[in-house]
Amino acid sequence: MVNLKANQAMCNNCGNTLTSHSQYDLQVCQCGFIAVDDGLNLRIIELTIPSVITNSLSSCDKSNFTIMF
Ligand SMILES: [Zn+2]
Repeated sequence: MVNLKANQAMCNNCGNTLTSHSQYDLQVCQCGFIAVDDGLNLRIIELTIPSVITNSLSSCDKSNFTIMF
């Protein structure tokens, strides 16, 4: 069991411990799975980014989201 402070959260995917120091201190874990914000009123944001980060821009395939230029 990891001993976390009130402003910390740990990502179950990559094991990063994130610390948000203030209201607008958004911290994203190294794998992009979660983010924390809001310091001691910790808000945990579960991101829908795939758990693997690549250099490809095709990771939005599932959402049928298309940017037209
Ligand atoms: Zn992570």
